[in-house]
Amino acid sequence: MAKVHNWQLGREMSYPYEAPQGPRRQFAAVFNINRCIGCQTCTMACKSTWTFSQGQEYMWWNNVESKPYGGYPQHWDMKILSLLEEANPGGQKWDSSVKEADTAPYGVYNGATIFEAAENTKAGQPAIGYIPTDLEWSAPNIHEDTAIRFQAGATLPEHPTWFFYLQRICNHCSYPACLAACPRQAIYKREEDGIVLLDQARCRGYRKCVEACPYKKTMYRGNTRVSEKCIACYPRLEGGDPLTGGEPMVTRCISTCVGKIRLQGWIDDEKSPLNFLVHKERVALPLYPQFGTQPNVYYIPPRWVPRPYLRQMFGPGVEEAIAKYANPSHELLGVLQLFGATQKLIASYEITADEAIGFNAGGREIVRVPIVEPVIVRPPERLNIT
Ligand code: SF4
Ligand code: SF4
Ligand code: SF4
Repeated sequence: MAKVHNWQLGREMSYPYEAPQGPRRQFAAVFNINRCIGCQTCTMACKSTWTFSQGQEYMWWNNVESKPYGGYPQHWDMKILSLLEEANPGGQKWDSSVKEADTAPYGVYNGATIFEAAENTKAGQPAIGYIPTDLEWSAPNIHEDTAIRFQAGATLPEHPTWFFYLQRICNHCSYPACLAACPRQAIYKREEDGIVLLDQARCRGYRKCVEACPYKKTMYRGNTRVSEKCIACYPRLEGGDPLTGGEPMVTRCISTCVGKIRLQGWIDDEKSPLNFLVHKERVALPLYPQFGTQPNVYYIPPRWVPRPYLRQMFGPGVEEAIAKYANPSHELLGVLQLFGATQKLIASYEITADEAIGFNAGGREIVRVPIVEPVIVRPPERLNIT
């Protein structure tokens, strides 16, 4: 059992795998929930690229679910939260009085992670978990657009009637439960970019990864009897797409996003816009950090949703994140314009008085967008009136 520092929990934790040193760079993404329109273009872009074949009908590596009732597989998060609670009754609490900018930005989580809960229950599993039933996998967009009780009137900061879209892909976790649980060592984390991949030649379909992943993002394929998962579109990241002439490109689900809610980059690189959003501005938060896998997909939480629900989902950084998003600094406003602005990977950026500029890893400019859209008034001679 290795001891690792999980910065999202603000403390050391047990991880049941003697992991090699962390990757040189870590793939990461930020999703701005406030801008998602639930169109599922991302979902279909992933499916039409990677999982359209026989046996993959129920594989939705990218899915967008309507919270609070929707989920794919159904109830995945409520089930994991209940398992944590069973293993450690009443203990899932944060101490937000102890904060350190780099090592404990949200305070300290004093509850049990999925790894620690398994240790406590002594069931011999690397992580607590479960294998969803066929029924739970059968309805990828159940309860779409279903809000909680109707009550007239809605003003910020919180709406009494609410739902929101939660966009989900594999989190390419720093401490992946899927990897730790695989008895065949078929799952590995790439040293060059932290992407978590599953070697189908080694997999024997035991579904230990499906059981252990708290986000339920590995999926079993009945006709080949092996598991599959999101590959972070690594051929695009490696520059294999002729469209960009060998330049690293963002994933399919990110580049096709109609609402321009997604941004991809390197979380550990000081110059990256991702690093700014997560570590410096702290406007983007991890999904269920208490699970303990240190996920690398981050979310700007929805402004209108009751805070207790958001705190359970994104941890105690919610108030600060929403306050920053509601009154953005000039730099944040600029970085938000870079979402969906190019298919190439933005490695660093610069914000001027009125423009946001993105650069590739070599320092060459790849995108330039205005921070405030110019207003253009149609001249009187061109008005559509007779
Ligand atoms: S989200 Fe699940 S499948 Fe993806 S790396 Fe984390 S534990 Fe593994
Ligand atoms: S990163 Fe690629 S493989 Fe993963 S969900 Fe998005 S489109 Fe699918
Ligand atoms: S394509 Fe973008 S806006 Fe549409 S559902 Fe996906 S994340 Fe939301």
